[in-house]
Amino acid sequence: MDNNLQETLLGNILVVDDTPENLRLLSTMLSQRGYVPRCVINGQMALRACNSHPPDLILLDIMMPQMNGYEVCQHLKLDAKTRDIPVIFISAKDEVFDKVNAFTVGGVDYISKPFQFEEVLARIESHLTLRKLQNQLKEQNILLQQEISSRLAVEKDLQEKNLILQKEISSRRAVEKALQEQNLLLQQEIFNRECAESALLKSHQELARYNAELEQFAYVASHDLQAPLATIVSYAQLLEKRSKDKLDSQANKFIGNIVYGCMRMQNLIDDLLEYSRFGRSDKLLQQTDCNQVFEQAIANLQGVIRDTEAVVCSSELPVVHGEISQLVQLFQNLVGNAIKYRQDAPPVVSVSACKHQDHWLFSVSDNGIGIAQQHQERIFKIFQRLHTQKEYSGTGIGLAICQKIVQRHGGRIWVESEPGQGSTFRFTLNENTFDL
Ligand code: ADP
Repeated sequence: MDNNLQETLLGNILVVDDTPENLRLLSTMLSQRGYVPRCVINGQMALRACNSHPPDLILLDIMMPQMNGYEVCQHLKLDAKTRDIPVIFISAKDEVFDKVNAFTVGGVDYISKPFQFEEVLARIESHLTLRKLQNQLKEQNILLQQEISSRLAVEKDLQEKNLILQKEISSRRAVEKALQEQNLLLQQEIFNRECAESALLKSHQELARYNAELEQFAYVASHDLQAPLATIVSYAQLLEKRSKDKLDSQANKFIGNIVYGCMRMQNLIDDLLEYSRFGRSDKLLQQTDCNQVFEQAIANLQGVIRDTEAVVCSSELPVVHGEISQLVQLFQNLVGNAIKYRQDAPPVVSVSACKHQDHWLFSVSDNGIGIAQQHQERIFKIFQRLHTQKEYSGTGIGLAICQKIVQRHGGRIWVESEPGQGSTFRFTLNENTFDL
């Protein structure tokens, strides 16, 4: 059998004895039983042999010159490499053998000479088995320790992950809570807005109703005022004509004032009637070519254009969804004002339109007297004028009508101007507008 294999199977045994006879005896006995014995004759050699190739067991003679068995054993126990090798002491029958010392220095057993072979072999076997078991135990212990530490590491890892998870859960809960709160606020906000919206709708409807009622009232009142006013005017004129010579100059002046006042009132009533009529129009809106609208308006203003030598031009205008007569009125009022509120130079008026997002933006520009910033909103209100009759005649209703027309077409109107720098009136009209 191969030596190495034998060693692994049964054990490698170092025999230390200074008596060659004993060595031979033990070596033969062990070889016969299948062990691999190594023999040395003193302590020094024993230590060297153990260091270079540690045996599985040592049979160690006690009484040896220079270094006795106890000392050899002590040296072996001091070295980690040899500490665990079981040492069985061999004692001669006539020697004074200190068993207690043998165990104290680290021996595991002892054998007395002369040898009982079977006993020696039994002791060797049992210590080798013991050592094997110890080694197995050690290995298992190491494995167990590794297992424990890896489990501890896993546990630690799990604990850390658990902590992170807990944090994550609590932060998610916090987010959830915040979201719930925001949701509540949002719902409250939606509810508030819905309330405000319905209140707005209600007031809008009420406003529309009041407006309609007001227009109806203005229409009825102005319509009904026309006849008595006409009577007053004609009688005042009759009085002026027939009693001119019988009355003094002051009375005649008073009558003249009555006639003038009545005629002005007639104008105002006519305009008011016209204004209220614009709200009562029930004509449907239709595709309307603004070039035609512009031409019609210019035709209506032919007289004043000729008298003032005004230059009125326009760029190509679009087709919009509208009511032609109202749009003619709109253009006519704006171009008419642009001529009326002129400076010394002949008026120059230009009309243009450009597409702006979903609507058309119209501009009517002039080189007239201009309008100060603070008046630019109020001139669109009914009867708001910036001049006396002597300066510029009018009733202050033209722009109010323009605003009404533009609003009915779904647009808005405003002015950009500076005193002395001319004005640009702008209004928007939709391509697909709806009848308001
Ligand atoms: P009216 O012309 O009868 O006074 P409007 O409603 O047309 O009434 O105009 C209101 C006022 O706005 C006018 O009195 C005038 O002062 C001012 N205005 C209107 N158009 C122009 C314009 N193109 N240039 C300067 N002022 C204007």
